[in-house]
Amino acid sequence: MNAAQLDIDSDPKAYLAHHESLDESAADALLDERELHVRGLVRDVVAHEVAPRAAEMDRTHEFVHESYQALACAGLAGLIFPRHLGGTADTNVAYAAAMEEITAGCAATSLVYMTQMHAAYPIMIAGSEELAERYVPGLLKGTAYGALGITEPGAGSDVASLRSVAAPSDGGYSLSGAKTFITTGDKADVIICFASIDRSLGRKGITAFVLNGAWDGLDRGTPFLKMGMHGSSTSELFFDEVQVPADHRLGEEGGGWQIVMNSVIKSRISAAAQGVGLARAAYGRALRALRRIHGSRLPDEAAFALATLRGKLLQGRLLLFSVARDIDRSATPNAGQIGIMKQTCTDLGFDTAREAMRVLGPYGDLTDLGVERCLRDAKVTQIYDGTNEVQRLLIARDTVRKAGE
Ligand SMILES: Cc1cc2nc3c(=O)[nH]c(=O)nc-3n(C[C@H](O)[C@H](O)[C@H](O)COP(=O)(O)OP(=O)(O)OC[C@H]3O[C@@H](n4cnc5c(N)ncnc54)[C@H](O)[C@@H]3O)c2cc1C
Repeated sequence: MNAAQLDIDSDPKAYLAHHESLDESAADALLDERELHVRGLVRDVVAHEVAPRAAEMDRTHEFVHESYQALACAGLAGLIFPRHLGGTADTNVAYAAAMEEITAGCAATSLVYMTQMHAAYPIMIAGSEELAERYVPGLLKGTAYGALGITEPGAGSDVASLRSVAAPSDGGYSLSGAKTFITTGDKADVIICFASIDRSLGRKGITAFVLNGAWDGLDRGTPFLKMGMHGSSTSELFFDEVQVPADHRLGEEGGGWQIVMNSVIKSRISAAAQGVGLARAAYGRALRALRRIHGSRLPDEAAFALATLRGKLLQGRLLLFSVARDIDRSATPNAGQIGIMKQTCTDLGFDTAREAMRVLGPYGDLTDLGVERCLRDAKVTQIYDGTNEVQRLLIARDTVRKAGE
């Protein structure tokens, strides 16, 4: 078998038929009519504009500009935002389904797509109406790229120990410090930056700001070379006395910690949906290849492996949609369940890709088949948006707290 013959990503009709065959009615039953419609719209754009470019972007490390723009131009890049800011006021469930679709076609595009939302979200929830109107629509239309700058060398899991400082200056702030591992950091026009107004206050000093990427004192590192997600860039950011007007502060001084806490609810849906999308891509590719190799009578070992993967994929998708629905309905969504969703779904993506490679034997190693790409892309979903070790810690804390109530 020539692995390239199995490539259906460049044939939208075949792509759509294949992915429809992977739908499960039990998971679809959790989506309402509008959510199914959104998923269909996204799948169509992915089939025609995103999936056909994915392997090439992975090979060349070229930024997935066209793929992301196709989604933005179709009006699908502002799902969870209100209409007056350019969004479509959809649910978190619709967003999760959309993210799964985009990831199944091109994980790097899904990373850029979610980062746009992650940058716009703090402005929407904590910025003034004027600030939101100035910055959010461009991020949702794709005319501006955004970045969310939380992580620093030595402060990622432990956000409270961040060292960037915002000192009072001319009625505003002078911001100095450095961020690292920032998605789209090398090209972001709009940067959300978390810095401390007084490091002795710990997390109570953390404050959020929105920065214009063109401001003086802002420098960017060369994008890192990474194991996966090649079509998305990740870089350092350096701030040397960047002058930030007071009206570019998001929320109150010291309110940054709460903004991080609110934002990670969204970003953990994003990462979890990526896990499910990558699991689906790896499982679907393995299924197709095994059918091609063996016809309809698969060896028992392969059939049992696929049966297990299908069951786990369905469980992951049910968990993703259920927790997203709970987030839609609850004013105070449960941190333990969000952690369970993030950890379970991203582990699912990595484990499914690894198992798909195993069951394919030497074919799993072939780049043209795309399963090894799923494995490389999946690894980082277990790391960002709170590592899975940190999720276990959060789940454990919540478990103990609930038991004490
Ligand atoms: C491709 C990529 C894109 C990213 N994009 C962004 C972005 O856009 N914006 C942004 O702000 N950040 C981004 N990050 C950073 C990412 O969110 C952090 O790297 C991640 O949260 C881990 O934090 P850390 O770097 O401090 O690692 P560390 O916390 O130093 O982790 C090292 C190891 O220690 C473990 N560990 C840490 N604390 C605990 C604990 N309490 N208990 C048990 N184990 C623990 C971790 O699980 C990990 O295994 C990105 C990272 C990558 C790789």
